[in-house]
Amino acid sequence: MICENIEKVQARITEACSRAGRDRENVTLIAVSKTKPIPDLEEAYRGGVRDFGENKVQELVEKAEVLPKDIRWHMIGHLQRNKVKYIVDKVCLIHSVDSLRLAEEISKEAVKRQLIVNILVEVNVAGEETKFGSTTGDAIQLVEQIAALPGICIKGLMTIAPFVENPEENRKYFSKLRQLAVDINDKNIDNVTMHVLSMGMTGDYEVAVEEGATLVRVGTGIFGERNYSAV
Ligand SMILES: *Cc1c(COP(=O)(O)O)cnc(C)c1O
Repeated sequence: MICENIEKVQARITEACSRAGRDRENVTLIAVSKTKPIPDLEEAYRGGVRDFGENKVQELVEKAEVLPKDIRWHMIGHLQRNKVKYIVDKVCLIHSVDSLRLAEEISKEAVKRQLIVNILVEVNVAGEETKFGSTTGDAIQLVEQIAALPGICIKGLMTIAPFVENPEENRKYFSKLRQLAVDINDKNIDNVTMHVLSMGMTGDYEVAVEEGATLVRVGTGIFGERNYSAV
């Protein structure tokens, strides 16, 4: 079932790319495996997935320990500063950097271990009160401040769009994030590239791809509904 779901999602990404005249190679599917058991991840791995997204530090660390080493782990959830030390050497990308203080902590740990940690700056483009992320207005300044820190490399932006019935409602937010990335790129800030746009989830990833997503984060569409009471 998981393998079939992956094939379906990959096919839809391919179709969205052709609608938008985009190169399929520029979009990577991240399987969001939070709350899901190891056998489910193994099945997704057999289905060809090498990028997995988790939102809890301990869960990511435990899964990374037992699963194949060629997996790229993405930290996509809100990250507490006191937990940064557990993941800086295990993740390929931290999507959810939303404050200078968090970035400073990542930088400190990176320097200590002589690593360069790749990050995205999370932007709350829809301005939802319940969500983390920089405001659109503050994002450029935050990027400039983080860019000055050693051991950290900004690769792009991430957003979590509102939960909506009709994905078309989120198109404006995806388009806004891409425009923001273009604006930041135009500033030619040292140590900053804006090639990565992490946007789109099960309900709206096709629209996100049409609007320029390079990473889509799909959980339910691959693994089925999550049961939070079971974890
Ligand atoms: C859970 C989660 C997803 C995946 O959500 P689905 O709707 O199940 O695809 C994507 N991004 C983030 C940040 C998440 O926390």
